[in-house]
Amino acid sequence: MKEKYPEKSSISPKLEIRSSPIQGGGIFAKEHIKAGETVIIWGGNYVSMEEAMRAKNQEGKVVLQLDDNLFTVEDKGEDPAYFINHSCDPNIWMKNAFTFVARRDIQPGEELTSDYILWEAEDYVAKWDCKCGSPLCRKKITGKDWRLPELQKRYKNHFIPLINKRIRKSQASH
Ligand SMILES: [Zn+2]
Repeated sequence: MKEKYPEKSSISPKLEIRSSPIQGGGIFAKEHIKAGETVIIWGGNYVSMEEAMRAKNQEGKVVLQLDDNLFTVEDKGEDPAYFINHSCDPNIWMKNAFTFVARRDIQPGEELTSDYILWEAEDYVAKWDCKCGSPLCRKKITGKDWRLPELQKRYKNHFIPLINKRIRKSQASH
């Protein structure tokens, strides 16, 4: 598992981290980025379910499930990927469990945003009201949002693998 998944996060050299009008720090394009281009690799401590369950009981660890038997265990911290701010009409999305690609062309100076529900499959409820300003804004962001048919359609195959599979299963059972 260790060979297959990146240990360190990395961001494209076309990007920089600076303070964001949305919140805290944000990731901004310095140069034009084309739709489909890889922008961020989400490195981490990728582990199996067994190891993840053990880590869940440890203080200060963030455990995220990405696929049936793929989890990350992280310290709350400094990782550049944590600077991705949320938008309900994001310009980046997932290509697989750990790769973000541009959803559309991104202009220099634009902030990179993603929709947090692309990887939130659990009981997550945002403690903030979204003010992204998009006409598509959902205001309250929760880990149940992937169930909304319009979002399943809009983000088809661009969630983490775990959610992509759940969606396919739920659609097959209709
Ligand atoms: Zn919003």
